[in-house]
Amino acid sequence: MSGTALRSITAALWAVTALLVGVLPAHATSELALTFDDLPITPEATESLVATLQANSVPEVYGFFNGASLGDISTPSPLLTATRAWVAAGYPLGNHTYTHTDLNRVTVDAFIQDIAANEIPLRDLSQGMHYHLFRYPLLHEGGTPEKRAAVRAYLRANGYTMAPVSLDFQDWAWTEAHLRCRRSGDTEALSRLDDLFIIHALSRLAHARHQSRHVYGREIRFVALLHATAFQAHILPRLLESLGTAFEEGVRYISTTHALQDPAYREDHGIAREEGATWLDLQELAKYGAVETGPQVPSELGRICRPGLLEQLYRELPVAN
Ligand SMILES: [Zn+2]
Repeated sequence: MSGTALRSITAALWAVTALLVGVLPAHATSELALTFDDLPITPEATESLVATLQANSVPEVYGFFNGASLGDISTPSPLLTATRAWVAAGYPLGNHTYTHTDLNRVTVDAFIQDIAANEIPLRDLSQGMHYHLFRYPLLHEGGTPEKRAAVRAYLRANGYTMAPVSLDFQDWAWTEAHLRCRRSGDTEALSRLDDLFIIHALSRLAHARHQSRHVYGREIRFVALLHATAFQAHILPRLLESLGTAFEEGVRYISTTHALQDPAYREDHGIAREEGATWLDLQELAKYGAVETGPQVPSELGRICRPGLLEQLYRELPVAN
């Protein structure tokens, strides 16, 4: 898709968004804290994210860390160097459990053990920086009131603050498609994926602003979720550029600590369910009994850069001579 075509689609999107959002105060700037989950995935992605965040002066970005990705931290490795570089840049690490455990699949005890196991590398890597911020893998907070309360009680007793997500850009959904298209070297498809993501991210922001006004009557300080993937490392410069001009006035980046001081995050919605959801979804559900569906991940992501059945058969045919 050409830049002009994208701009006209984006303009059309804003027109629709303006209708959906209704009356927003003129020059309302959204305040946004960026957070990255699943750190570290690759050394290249981690280093690239740090460079982009620093170049754009984004303050205090937490990287929610899974120690198992790194393994033994007494053995030097490129991934270890990249993780240390994240911290050296002044960005803290948060706890995302050692092995990215899904709370729906394990007992409370096993989950707590995985949180505690992650503290060993976190303490060493953090070099005295704060790391007692916790993000649930898959945003699964416990499917029953008892399970939810037990993990929360552990976190509180151990000095943790929870880091809910109020704006999910759903970038995880681009991970596999991006890798597939890179493998097949399809540059047109890669650029299409980028365009689809930027459009999706901006409409997710519009939806979060709308939800925030619906639930709180104002714009809360958003905590945005991104992932430390190769795709995100690749798209982040363009995402920041697009967010910089979103709604004309652009967003303002704030620290995660400042975002979490918004009183909105103090009200416990009290909802226990297996499905992961954003803070705003759950607050909306608690207040109105239903969630307004936001922009959905384009179904095209599942098909792009996948050979058709006929093409697959051809590939499997023995090559003549
Ligand atoms: Zn995660």
